[in-house]
Amino acid sequence: MSMKSIFDAKEVRSEFEKASINASFIPLIWKHVITHHQNPNNTNTNTNTNTITTAIDWCEIPSLPSAAYSLLASKFKPLTTTLHSLHRSSDGVTTKLLIKLQNGSFVEAVVMKYDTRLGKYDGKPRPGGPRSTLCVSSQVGCKMGCSFCATGSMGFKNNLSSGEIVEQLVHASRVDSIRNVVFMGMGEPLNNYAALVDAIRVMLGSPFQLSPRRITVSTVGIVHAINKLHNDLPGLNLAVSLHAPVQDIRCQIMPAARAFPLEKLMDALQQYQKISQQKILIEYIMLDGVNDGEQHAHLLGKLLETFQVIVNLIPFNPIGTLSQFRTSSEEGVSRFQKILRGTYNIRTTIRKQMGQDISGACGQLVVNLPDKKSIGNSSLLPDIEDLHL
Ligand code: SF4
Repeated sequence: MSMKSIFDAKEVRSEFEKASINASFIPLIWKHVITHHQNPNNTNTNTNTNTITTAIDWCEIPSLPSAAYSLLASKFKPLTTTLHSLHRSSDGVTTKLLIKLQNGSFVEAVVMKYDTRLGKYDGKPRPGGPRSTLCVSSQVGCKMGCSFCATGSMGFKNNLSSGEIVEQLVHASRVDSIRNVVFMGMGEPLNNYAALVDAIRVMLGSPFQLSPRRITVSTVGIVHAINKLHNDLPGLNLAVSLHAPVQDIRCQIMPAARAFPLEKLMDALQQYQKISQQKILIEYIMLDGVNDGEQHAHLLGKLLETFQVIVNLIPFNPIGTLSQFRTSSEEGVSRFQKILRGTYNIRTTIRKQMGQDISGACGQLVVNLPDKKSIGNSSLLPDIEDLHL
């Protein structure tokens, strides 16, 4: 029988309740698990962490009611996932964590560290130094099948449990102190809604205590889930992978869009914005000759004119077999940006191209067998940070 993760909060609460154990002990147990890890000691090179164990004996946790120890030992593991390996980019900005699930599948989480406000006013780092953002996966593979996306090409394998989602944060906290979490890894988070909500609630509570303003959920636009999101998790940032200003182009590059007509999606976003009063990040991957023309910029401008949004233009980065698309020219991208800014007064940024081993856009993490070079979405931090300005 596979054991549950101690970070599967619902399971733990329900077992504690059945055994009449006070739920207030749960954050103490989590804190113990988080702090009793060995830290990977090699910070500059790729590190295989097979030798790093995370064995934690429940008996080591002081001051729990005695019934809790036997309950924990029989039903829960401190971690159900293992950190298989770390891969650091040469510039030290990105660390990819390859994480093995209990069922043998792998997911990636990416830690991105840089201070985007450096030099903005006085060329000096802001107090507090660089902030780290963790990009987490919510599914193994993805059902959405976006034709420009590496994850989409691998199909769907399974949903992650809430514990498996939170464990990515636990592993990442061994690498760096994490201030922002973005759900832009493998999978469509709103397609794994219950686990997503439970995981985020754990992240918001003790001992993680992340601010909801520091958590971003990125979606292709699952309309019914967007309608619920603000009620379940007020204050989060929402990022929408729009990628086209009209329904037929959306359907062409994002098959899932057929189930979610653009008009309905825009209504849901309008409603979300009205209730949340927050800016929405619009992600737009620039595909040469598909969605990057001046006419598309005007259509997008008209579509978004009445919203409070930041549009992030993402130059397409062809990966392996995904070469059916070409990268838009630099001039084309900047012309597109000028139209959105100049004609429609929409704040528009262009995602920076990072290293060759790095890609951009919603969820471009791929199946990563341990010996394959992985692809991580590490260039999004400046965009996410923009939401907090
Ligand atoms: S872009 Fe996002 S939603 Fe589309 S297939 Fe990739 S992971 Fe799934």
